[in-house]
Amino acid sequence: MPRRSERTERFTESVIRRMTRVADLHGAINLSQGFPDFDPPPELLRSLRNIALSGPHQYAVTWGAPNFRQALAGKISRFMCLPIDKDENLVVTCGSTEAMMAAMLAVCNPMDKVVVFSPFYENYGADAILSGAQPIYVELRPPRFTFDRDELRKAFEQKPKAVILCNPSNPSGRVFTRDELEEIARLAREFDAFVITDEVYEHIVYEPHRHIYFASLPGMFERTLSCSSLSKTYSITGWRLGYVVAPPEMADAVKKVHDFLTVGAAAPLQEAAITALELPDAYYRSLLEGYREKRDVFLKALDRAGLLYTTPEGAYYVLVDISEFNAGNDVSFCEWMAEHVGVAAVPGSSFFHEPTHHLIRFHFAKRRETLEEAGKRLIGIRELWKRHPMPAVDS
Ligand code: GLN
Repeated sequence: MPRRSERTERFTESVIRRMTRVADLHGAINLSQGFPDFDPPPELLRSLRNIALSGPHQYAVTWGAPNFRQALAGKISRFMCLPIDKDENLVVTCGSTEAMMAAMLAVCNPMDKVVVFSPFYENYGADAILSGAQPIYVELRPPRFTFDRDELRKAFEQKPKAVILCNPSNPSGRVFTRDELEEIARLAREFDAFVITDEVYEHIVYEPHRHIYFASLPGMFERTLSCSSLSKTYSITGWRLGYVVAPPEMADAVKKVHDFLTVGAAAPLQEAAITALELPDAYYRSLLEGYREKRDVFLKALDRAGLLYTTPEGAYYVLVDISEFNAGNDVSFCEWMAEHVGVAAVPGSSFFHEPTHHLIRFHFAKRRETLEEAGKRLIGIRELWKRHPMPAVDS
């Protein structure tokens, strides 16, 4: 038989999505794959119901229905403080997952280098394999997950085509300061690189931290492909509505990739989501307030369980240190925890380039009751660890 492609041989299964299946298998509370267990805004659901009857039900314009792009351009211009043109600067994609992939394919030739901060959202590894790009990893150093300026400069000296920047950052919860972003901007200019951003948590940034859109830095719009989505902002991860904001020439390149990859995002969902894009500022304040409360509830639960963590500055993830268990293997530890404690997390090793087996990632995009129940279960973790130790794993 002929062999499958080498690029798929290099793939590993998404650990995040596998952990959802492990959680389901054991009936565990799923704090692994980050998605809410609460409803989207009610206006959005009403709009979806109406559109089921009125349509559209056929293809939209491949890079996004014009009225959806109009509403999207309005919302983005308002928050980015930049004039975004619905025809020249926007491509609507199937989630930011496709946005990032299409951006990478539009920017990189096979063997081009891209700078990736580690820990990183696991999809970037697959994006690099699919586009043929070679990642140069730059460590975000715990406990604050900051980068070393000399290390970053050395990475840029290898002439990367682009840098991938997830801000607010998944999984570390880091929100980069203006100073750090300006350092990246200086290097991008000096070494003539693109910047591909993943800003899906743009509205989930806790005081006193502030989100700064990379494209809004002086001179950066021209070299930035900003990816984001409606998934986290309006609690509609299953709608798969994402987008790329870019200067016209790059938006045009992304449009071409996107057209041949997927033709387009779901037309009725674009139509329904216009309602979300027109929500007032109060919506974003209450979204953030909701997440701040969830963060506080969950961090308190971790304190009660005596588990150590880095406080997230943004997004809805927290990295917890499991060194005290001497588990050796974070993947087996997460499987053990889903089965015996009834709470699922993602093994940290799937986010790090450096061998890292002492961290696990929880997400807290869940109702207060769900988080409190998870907290109760975690209190018993040490006792359960003694009673049902994890089978030894050959490394
Ligand atoms: N971004 C979410 C996470 O990191 C969901 C990922 C996904 O499965 N698309 O868990």
